Amino acid sequence: MRFEFATATRIVFGPGTVREVPAAAAEVGRRALLVTRRSADLERMGLAGEPFPINGEPTVDMVRQGAQLARETGCDLVIALGGGSAIDAGKAIAALLANGGDPLDYLEVVGQGRPLDRPSAPFIAIPTTAGTGSEVTRNAVLASPEHRVKASLRSPHMLPRLAVVDPELTLDLPPALTASTGLDALTQLIEPYVSIRANALTDLYCAEGMRLAASALRRVWRDGHDLAARTDMAFASLLGGLALANAGLGAVHGFAAPLGGMFDAPHGSLCAALLPHAMRVNIAALRASPSHADGLLRYTSVARTLTGHAAAMPEDGTAWVECLCRDLEIRPLGAYGVRAADVPALADKAARASSMKANPIVLTRGQMEDLLTRAI
Ligand SMILES: [Zn+2]
Repeated sequence: MRFEFATATRIVFGPGTVREVPAAAAEVGRRALLVTRRSADLERMGLAGEPFPINGEPTVDMVRQGAQLARETGCDLVIALGGGSAIDAGKAIAALLANGGDPLDYLEVVGQGRPLDRPSAPFIAIPTTAGTGSEVTRNAVLASPEHRVKASLRSPHMLPRLAVVDPELTLDLPPALTASTGLDALTQLIEPYVSIRANALTDLYCAEGMRLAASALRRVWRDGHDLAARTDMAFASLLGGLALANAGLGAVHGFAAPLGGMFDAPHGSLCAALLPHAMRVNIAALRASPSHADGLLRYTSVARTLTGHAAAMPEDGTAWVECLCRDLEIRPLGAYGVRAADVPALADKAARASSMKANPIVLTRGQMEDLLTRAI
């Protein structure tokens, strides 16, 4: 056995823990850039700083402006409160603040992809959804609207200094957002588990996360104020973030990246629409390839964990996820404007996406087009 594992310097988890942020912030910096739509919430907690309100998913330009504002106002610390958008924006700003230059100097795919040599400015991540796990990952996904793509700034130096996961912050999430972010969390537990880069430690996290999410997702959908279920989902999401940052993802995220660049749809909704179809196509491909028996065994244990049945087969896991998506009113990709004519271009881009490299089996062009067509 050999593995490596890296995560945020410090993780604080539990209901009410957000109230510890002001004291923790004072330990790592003097003045904070507050990246959030809800800076009033942070001020009420007694956290002073320079507000940088963000609207929507982060773009190259937004991050450029944030780093400039932080410099002009003497901020030496970045705090992000929000969903994956706010946290990725804050993470990217903290990296630029310490490394200088422009986001495009470092951005993968459309930028120069130069390494970020210096540790980021201290960064505190406070998620308000139970979905992305971005509070413990080492990349920030940025949109470049002129290129119609999303690409990452990525570096081990970008792991947050502190992740504060307070399930109480998710109590007011509306059902649709609860469903899409929750299914993203579930995807981020299944994909690292079947990933070719899975390791003994991420396997433990994924197994426990899948078990919790399988029970809690329907409960938070039915009653958003069920704190026990919200706590389970927040923990499951954190476990997914820990796993994906160290074991990678797969076909769902391989497609979600180009889809997110070409269509105006939230990341979680895209993953939710893709998940059952990616499972179906992956499992069929594994069945057709005798040299991939291990991948099929992994889908068998996914199915047994999700359904709770000791004799479940891989396909039963897919059926369970399909039923969950139906119950949680997940919309297909067509609802976001994706059409059959878009399939070839999306398959081209997905084949080159970094997440696709960890998929349990290399999908053929035909299999990728089939997966996407089913999800439309
Ligand atoms: Zn995701």
